[in-house]
Amino acid sequence: MLVDLQKYLPGLSVDVRYATKNNFTGKKLYKQARVFALYPVARALREIRAELLPQHLDIKIYDAYRPYTISLQLWDVYQDDRYVATPQKGSRHNRGCALDMTLIDTRTGKELDMPTPFDSFSNKAHDNYNKLPAKVLKNRAMLRTIMEKHGFTHLNSEWWHFDFLHWGTRPILDISFEQLDSLEVPIKK
Ligand SMILES: [Zn+2]
Repeated sequence: MLVDLQKYLPGLSVDVRYATKNNFTGKKLYKQARVFALYPVARALREIRAELLPQHLDIKIYDAYRPYTISLQLWDVYQDDRYVATPQKGSRHNRGCALDMTLIDTRTGKELDMPTPFDSFSNKAHDNYNKLPAKVLKNRAMLRTIMEKHGFTHLNSEWWHFDFLHWGTRPILDISFEQLDSLEVPIKK
């Protein structure tokens, strides 16, 4: 079941770009700034935060579960299958296993320096792009290392995108955030 990550992970930082116009489409696609993911994903994030917080670090989520209908809208705006999922395939985000995220310094609340801003579709966002300051390379590696340690795989064209184990076996879902609220599934702590 999909878990409300902000309820499950107290104090979680989010910047849900698709709930604002500050995303590559320039359009507000979500009515609410919400982040949901499958329960095993939420549990892995809890373990990741337990490791990061003593180091004055935390995660910040840009996007998580995305209803299939929203992916269709993204496709309408930007029909380029290098960056946006086609209607036939659906998005990894439709499965509740994908996360777009970065790291923040909890002392300042600021994002660590990464190769590009979120959703910057360019070579600079690729894993094999290394013409970057040492600090940026270190931050990118730190994010990837902790995510992989906890069962996530990384998409090599977007430094911010991770998929949880067995994501390909999970069904594509089209439940709106509002419908998820009304399901009221009790959360296992
Ligand atoms: Zn993504």
